[in-house]
Amino acid sequence: MVNIMNYEIKYDTRDNIASLLSENNPKQVELIRKMAHDVLLENCGSGVYYRGLIEFSNRCVSDCYYCGIRRSNADVNRFDLTMDEIVDSALWCAKNGYGSIVLQSGENSSRDFIDFVCRAVETIKKRSISEELPNGLGVTLCIGEQSEADYARLFAAGAHRYLLRIETSNRELFKTIHPEAQSFDNRVECLRRLKRTGFQVGTGVMYGLPGQTYQMLADDILFFKDMDIDMLGMGPYIRHSSTPLKKNENQFIIEGDDLLRVSLLMIAACRLVLKDINIAATTALQTIDPTGREKGLSFGANVVMPQLTPVDYRKSYLLYDNKPCQEDTKEECKNCLSARVGSVGREVHYNEWGDSPHFKRKGESKN
Ligand code: SAH
Repeated sequence: MVNIMNYEIKYDTRDNIASLLSENNPKQVELIRKMAHDVLLENCGSGVYYRGLIEFSNRCVSDCYYCGIRRSNADVNRFDLTMDEIVDSALWCAKNGYGSIVLQSGENSSRDFIDFVCRAVETIKKRSISEELPNGLGVTLCIGEQSEADYARLFAAGAHRYLLRIETSNRELFKTIHPEAQSFDNRVECLRRLKRTGFQVGTGVMYGLPGQTYQMLADDILFFKDMDIDMLGMGPYIRHSSTPLKKNENQFIIEGDDLLRVSLLMIAACRLVLKDINIAATTALQTIDPTGREKGLSFGANVVMPQLTPVDYRKSYLLYDNKPCQEDTKEECKNCLSARVGSVGREVHYNEWGDSPHFKRKGESKN
């Protein structure tokens, strides 16, 4: 019999993190899960926070090789939600106690687009104020690479968190999944701009990319630490059939259980190393396992992003194949998710923004 106490779980160096991520002894995996869960409780508490996800436009100037809504995918019906559709979805969130929303779209830097998003944010902030939400909804943006001046406008409009995934912190790997015009350096520079602007900054990576190794994933975690990020949204890479990036073949992560195990260990390792940041259990996790999001929560995640995109548009926002929850109404989604959160002994904190404790602590130490 293996005595699990004989093993020591370490995550203090790149090599130790890489070996933690490649752990496949179920007892060790369970031990890592428990450690991550303890660190979560100590630093963030047991609450789970919702961000209602509104995918408001799939028009995109970028051409990421992995993404279903990339510019060159001619099969996609391009759409833009109207201002009313966006505001109505946001107000539904406010009424139903979701303290925050995420506005996500393809990439576009035109003046009209930024003006439109600023107006949407201002309207949502104003109209969502209530007794329960005296400062209105918390608004996170996920609209890609923009200039510092535009980030400042979006912040002034009332958005206070921003997600921009680095996708991988490995320059060489980054080049294999993006066209030349999309540079790693610009992505990093955008993260710095967001920080200077005052946003709570989220980033993240995909795992299971062709050519990716455990060492690279360990480096990703050290990159998050180095950049002092406040929030994380990560997920497995799932192939979209009309994109050029192939499935992972002959790689360390293959499919099914392995990808799930690595996904969960990535969440746990990030929780152990970064301690007090917010970590999302993303929808992509549920694509590879029907209870993927719950598992993500029990490995140290504390944020869930229910789909709020009107059902008719969801089929046009398929970043990858088999994206779940395509037909569920907002109400079904709410009930289903709160049951899922409850099933792992956790509780949704309604009517709270659920800001990153890491960001709050940085602010306190400055004062
Ligand atoms: N245009 C915005 C939003 C992009 S979509 C931006 O650039 O930030 C949000 C995330 O979906 C991406 O950052 C990427 O990590 C993820 N994604 C895209 N295609 C994917 C795929 N095939 N499998 C898994 N995740 C994918």
